[in-house]
Amino acid sequence: MMSRADLWSKRLASAATQRRAEGGWRQRPTLDEADPLIDFAGNDYLGLAGDPRLAEAQAEGAKRFGAGARASHLVTGHHAVHERLEQRLAELTGRPRALLFSTGYMANLGVLQTLCDRHTRVFQDRLNHASLLDGARLAQAPSRRFHHRDLADLERLLERTPQDAPALVVSDGVFSMDGDTADIAGLADTCQRQGAWLMIDDAHGLGVLGEHGDGCVGRAHDQRQVTILVGTLGKALGSAGAFVAGDAALIDHLVQFARPYIYTTAQPPGVAAATLTALDILEQEPERRDRLHRHIADFRREAARLGLPLTDSTTPIQPVVLGDSARVMRWAERLARAGFRVGAIRPPTVPRGQARLRITLSAAHDATALDALLGALDACRREDAS
Ligand SMILES: *Cc1c(COP(=O)(O)O)cnc(C)c1O
Repeated sequence: MMSRADLWSKRLASAATQRRAEGGWRQRPTLDEADPLIDFAGNDYLGLAGDPRLAEAQAEGAKRFGAGARASHLVTGHHAVHERLEQRLAELTGRPRALLFSTGYMANLGVLQTLCDRHTRVFQDRLNHASLLDGARLAQAPSRRFHHRDLADLERLLERTPQDAPALVVSDGVFSMDGDTADIAGLADTCQRQGAWLMIDDAHGLGVLGEHGDGCVGRAHDQRQVTILVGTLGKALGSAGAFVAGDAALIDHLVQFARPYIYTTAQPPGVAAATLTALDILEQEPERRDRLHRHIADFRREAARLGLPLTDSTTPIQPVVLGDSARVMRWAERLARAGFRVGAIRPPTVPRGQARLRITLSAAHDATALDALLGALDACRREDAS
């Protein structure tokens, strides 16, 4: 008989064997200053992560307030710069209040775990981000998945659910692996008819979509339509952290009860200072968004001309769905040899048979790099065809 001590190593070895057999073993590319590849895999949509003004604000903030926050927000970690950032985020999104979290993953866990329990019903788009699924699981709330972007399916599920249970509908604003957007107005209508609250995670829309870069919800849909808005700061805004925006009752409730808010050290104040600078740039340099959207249109037009399998995304996330993992790895390696880093996304991140390159565009790219990437994609396509 195997001893108990051997059981752990056996578990780890068998998980590793299975992952490798599926062609899904993951590697972390290690970047240094002299990274030779042009990045088409990140989420730095406006090119702010490398902007020296953010770095300066962060350094200055660290010098003034300390490298770390020293404690959680409810103890002595809540600095004036956090407070100012929350106000700016509330203004940007047209909400009465906003609450800063250390990461988007924690914001989603915080909201779902705090609001939901066994007696609530959660309805999630099938393609929602892992943190949303995990949050409902942590709350032990019965969760139903509706078909991707299918309002009729959602309505049917809501109708079948007992009226005496509070209902929360949850969706990504921009779907992180597909790049398509939720029908916010449609979801809001359905929720209003059914008396459900609506929560949108706009991690990839904030800074990119909306008239003011306020995302796919932002000021266009107020908190009566979208009760809970989550945005993240490590993507288009180029820094780190996340926030929940909504009315005072919601935010107060989270401050009192959200465990991922309460039991963690506050974000370093310098990071909040960098995000404030990112918000200034978002306001003062709308040309960054214009340039990004020109890149998106150019990429889609040329990729379609080459016959590449695009999705109907009009966001910076442009997946090329190739199907099987080995093919995705082959293309990604060829692209790396040509000088480009793209995401190679395989199950379990996406459903089986839908492995894909996840190509992301940024205002930091220039037209020459975009042309060269398209040329390299065309070479992959030809090699496959021959
Ligand atoms: C990236 C992402 C998150 C997590 O945000 P972090 O700040 O990186 O933890 C949450 N939701 C969605 C849809 C995301 O894409």
